[in-house]
Order: sequence, then C-alpha cells, then structure tokens
Amino acid sequence: DLGYMTSEKAYRIVLAGDAAVGKSSFLLRLCKNEFKLNTSATLGVDFQMKTFIVDGEPVLLQLWDTAGQERFRSIAKSYFRRADGVLLLYDVTCEKSFLNIREWVDMIEDVSQDDIPIMLVGNKCDLRQDQVESVPTSYGEKLAMTYNTLFCETSAKDGSNILEAVLHLARLVKKHA
Ligand code: GDP
Repeated sequence: DLGYMTSEKAYRIVLAGDAAVGKSSFLLRLCKNEFKLNTSATLGVDFQMKTFIVDGEPVLLQLWDTAGQERFRSIAKSYFRRADGVLLLYDVTCEKSFLNIREWVDMIEDVSQDDIPIMLVGNKCDLRQDQVESVPTSYGEKLAMTYNTLFCETSAKDGSNILEAVLHLARLVKKHA
C-alpha cells in the first residue's frame, strides 16, 4: 500500500481506550489481517497508513496507536490535539474499561478544537459466550447515544466488524472535514 507516498491528504485517526482493551490488536487485524494472543505493549507501532474505499472514493487514513502510553495523559492529549477522528475502545469483558469511557470522551472533547467524530467500539465480543460478566450491548448503545456517537462491537480475534467500524468513522470524518 503506497498510498502514503502520494501527496494525498491523510486523515489522522487515533485509537484510544484503556490498556489491554485491544487497540494494537485492532490495528493488526485491520492492516495485516493477523491476530496474536499475547501482544507486547513495547511492540506497538506509532501509526499505520492505509487507503480505504469510502462511498466509491479512496480515503487515506493515518491510524495512530497510543502504544502503551495511554497511562500518560499528557501524551494521550497530544495525540488527540491533531486527530480528525477517534476510535474509542473498551473491552466488553472488562467493566472498568467501559466505565472509563466517560473520562476518555471528556479528555478528547477538552483537547480537540471542534467536535471530532468518535466511534465507540466494544471489542473482544468473541469472548462473550465464555464470560458470565460482560458489558451488555445495550449499555454501549445507550452510552453512544448520550454522546451522539456511533457504536459497534468488534473482535480483533475473529475480525468481526473491524473494517465496518473504520469505514463508518472514515465516512463521518470525511464529511466533517
Ligand atoms: P492494547 O493495550 O489496547 O493495545 O491491547 P492489545 O492489543 O495489546 O490486547 C491486549 C490483549 O487482549 C492481548 O492479549 C490480545 O491478544 C487480546 N485481545 C485483543 N483483542 C481481542 C479480541 O477481540 N478478542 C480476544 N479474545 N482477545 C483480544
């Protein structure tokens, strides 16, 4: 994919959310169609470039992984400052990561100039069958409604909804720009 070699405008998309919700895995699935059971925070790449076809037109995305630095607020903020869109992930088997979404949204809205499009993503939905405790889909839907954002559930493991989530956000970002 040599899309980034051209002078075509790239939209900056930042992956956000608590550590271990699956941000690196999401990117790995999206860009390389791979999944690793044990990912290492230090292996997180800075960003990936990829062209997607949105409504029949190529759209170049620069996808940023916060790569284990989500703990450092000042660094996270610097990622959001120049973002055109955010993929905000939680883990459907980790209630805490869902409860922390509010804080993430507050931080994003605090830092970004105007309301940048956010896609709320409940990841690891493949684990739902095995887990007694999990965040119900309706909770995610309700939260997304209060923030007026899009919502979907994904699995970086089996790949479900990963591309769809990105395409939905890319469409919004393109319209918003
Ligand atoms: P990050 O810290 O947000 O980048 O999270 P990682 O991508 O490093 O993922 C943390 C752990 O969750 C790793 O062991 C992944 O293999 C696992 N993981 C990530 N996404 C999924 C998923 O969709 N399903 C399952 N079952 N495991 C996942």
